[in-house]
Amino acid sequence: MKGRIALVKGDITRIQADAIVNAANPNLLGGGGVDGAIHAAAGPELREYCRTCGGARPGEAKISPGFRLPAKYIIHAVGPRWQGGHRGEAEILRQAYLNSLRLASEHGIKTIAFPNISTGIYGYPKEEAARIAISTVKEYLENHPEIERVIFVTYDDENYRIYKRLLGDEAEEAG
Ligand code: ADP
Repeated sequence: MKGRIALVKGDITRIQADAIVNAANPNLLGGGGVDGAIHAAAGPELREYCRTCGGARPGEAKISPGFRLPAKYIIHAVGPRWQGGHRGEAEILRQAYLNSLRLASEHGIKTIAFPNISTGIYGYPKEEAARIAISTVKEYLENHPEIERVIFVTYDDENYRIYKRLLGDEAEEAG
């Protein structure tokens, strides 16, 4: 696993990877937080493209070109909205990561960057979300050598500290 997981603090729109993942809304037409930043950086072509994608349910993911981003693709994953933890949120969050990774494998993507899905406007407790993100990614990487590198991009200090603690020396610090 060593060398295949990286931790970065910063803006995911600046990441040079084959794909970046967006924490999208079900209509895929843009929103606040990281979604707004990605739409602003990718340009209006992204919204035009996403109109034709038919949306995505929580746990699902759809792929688009990266348009003006350094990344070739954007994978739009819809995380769960936190409702107290008894509405299947953990499994939906796991599916959002897993379906993003599956799309990456299908499209020959070797490097993929994830934001901390659902931990902003959707209110998922950050440490619980980080544990799910990390365990889902690690399990996938064990079985999928075609994915060379997964970059966890943390934006706020709290997520950065949580990921740093949970990943320990398993992640390279990059960026
Ligand atoms: P959600 O609706 O899934 O909660 P948000 O965009 O509100 O999505 O938040 C998800 C995470 O994205 C939060 O941890 C937030 O700090 C982070 N974030 C916000 N802007 C950026 C950005 N430009 N790059 C990377 N992460 C970001």
